[in-house]
Amino acid sequence: MRATAQQPQRAPDGAPLHYERHRPEQTTLYRLVQQHAASFIAHTEASTGAELPRFIKDEFDAFLECGILAHGFLRLRCCECGHDKLLAFSCKRRGFCPSCGARRMSQTAAHLVDHVIPHVPVRQWVLSLPIPLRVLMAAQPELVTPVLQVVQRVLTRHLLDAAGLQADEGYGGAVTLIQRFGSAANLNIHLHCLVLDGVYRCDADGVPGFIEAGAPTDDELSALLHTIIARLMKMLTRRGVLVVDMGQTYLAEPDADGEEARTLRPLQAAAVTYRIAFGPRAGQKVLTLRGALPREDWARQPLCADIDGFSLHAAVRVEAHDRKRLEQLCRYITRPALSDQRVQLNAAGQVELKLKTPWRDGTTHLVMSPLEFMQRLAALVPRPRLHLIRFHGVLAPNAKLRARVVPQGPQVQEPASEGAAPAECEVQTVPTGPHRIGWARLLKRIFDIDMHHCPNCGVGELKIIAAILERHVIEKILTHLGLDPQPPPRGRAREAGQD
Ligand SMILES: [Zn+2]
Ligand SMILES: [Zn+2]
Repeated sequence: MRATAQQPQRAPDGAPLHYERHRPEQTTLYRLVQQHAASFIAHTEASTGAELPRFIKDEFDAFLECGILAHGFLRLRCCECGHDKLLAFSCKRRGFCPSCGARRMSQTAAHLVDHVIPHVPVRQWVLSLPIPLRVLMAAQPELVTPVLQVVQRVLTRHLLDAAGLQADEGYGGAVTLIQRFGSAANLNIHLHCLVLDGVYRCDADGVPGFIEAGAPTDDELSALLHTIIARLMKMLTRRGVLVVDMGQTYLAEPDADGEEARTLRPLQAAAVTYRIAFGPRAGQKVLTLRGALPREDWARQPLCADIDGFSLHAAVRVEAHDRKRLEQLCRYITRPALSDQRVQLNAAGQVELKLKTPWRDGTTHLVMSPLEFMQRLAALVPRPRLHLIRFHGVLAPNAKLRARVVPQGPQVQEPASEGAAPAECEVQTVPTGPHRIGWARLLKRIFDIDMHHCPNCGVGELKIIAAILERHVIEKILTHLGLDPQPPPRGRAREAGQD
C-alpha cells in the first residue's frame, strides 16, 4: 500500500478540500523506473540495432505518470458535507504497475465470483510448459488460443466420460487465466484453468442440471497430460512452429525479421531462463542470494503429473458453497507480478527482488543491476489486445446456456456502474493515445474508487465536478495546496556500466 494521508485544505474557490496523498513517486520501484528506464531503452536499442516496441516504452511512460497529481486529476465533491477530493489518474496497465495490478486483481476476482462462475464445484487445473514452449508462447502469443482449445477439449472430454455422457449430451465450462510470470517476476507463461468440476445436462424442458465429477486419479491425470502433450505437439507441428526430423522435434527457426523480433525475443528468452539479456553480463544467470534455480513447489504432490517438462496440477477444488475461497483462488491467479514491498535497493545500489516464497534451496532474494531489472520489467508487459482471461464452454460469451448458469451477482447500485464492472476487468483492451484523455476513459477510471462513501463524512456520495487536465490549472491547484506542481523528473539515458 502506498503512503496515504488526508489533509483538509481550502481549494482556490474556498471550498474545503480533501485529497489523498498517494505517493507512488516515493516507492523504490518508481525511483528505479524513473532513473533507469531511459538508459534501458537506449541501451537495448543500441545493442540490438532495433527499436524497442512502442507498447513497452508506453508502459514505462504510463507507469511514471500513474497516481501523480501533476499529470492531472479528477476533482470530486461530496453531496453531503461538500468536501472535495482529488484523484490522480492511474495507468491501468497490465505489465508491472503494482497498484493498478492489485486493483485489477480485486475487480476481476469479484467479477468472476459475482457474475461468471456458477454455484457449482470448481477444480483448478494448472498447466506448465517446458521452457522452449514458454519462449515460443511469449514470442507468438497468438498460439495461446489453439493451445487453450486443446487443453479445454481434453478436460471437457474427461468430465463427460466421468459423467457417462456423449459429447453432445453435456456441456462443460471454464475460465482460464493466462499467467505470464512466476514467483521471481520471471516470464513463465502458464495456464490456470478454473474448470467447473462436472458437466451440465439439459432435461426435456431444456433446463440445465449439473452433474458433479469425482476427483481424477493420479493415473488418469497422467493419461490426461499425455493426451494434452500429444495433441499440442501435433497442433504446433501442423502450424509449422515445430519441426519433426529423424524422430526428433525442433523449434522451427522463427521469422526473425522485424524490429520487434530482434529486441523482444532476447528479452523474453532471458526472462524465461533467468538470464540477463543485454549488457556487460549478457548471458549470465541472474545472481541469487543462494544461487540456484527454483523448483516448483507442488512437484511430487498428489494430483500433479510431470512429463517431459510439462506439468499438470489438479489438486485444488473449491466446493459449490465456498464462494469466499473461490474469490481467494481468483485473487491468487490474477495477482500482479510485483508488489512495491518486494523491490528494494541494497547498499551497493543493486536491486533486491524478494521472492514471494523462498525457494527450496533457501534463496529469498534475487539480486540484479537496475538495468537488468528493467529488462525483467519489459518482458512482463503483455502485448496490447492480448486477452489474458478466456471463457470456455457454457461460460463463453456467446454460449446459449450462459445466462441460465452464471450467478446474477449483487444488485448494482446505479446503472452507470453496470457497464463499468465487467469492462474494468482484464478482458478490456488497453486504450491508446497517452496524452488525450477522453471522457469515457475518465468515467471508467472514476469507478475504481468508492463513489458512494465520502472519505470525510462516510455517508455522502461523491460526484465528479471537474477533470483537471490543463497544465496551468493543475499547477494553480497543486501550488495552492502546497503540493509539488511539477511531475517527478525523469532520469536521462546513460552509458551501460554506469548502473
Ligand atoms: Zn498504474
Ligand atoms: Zn462527505
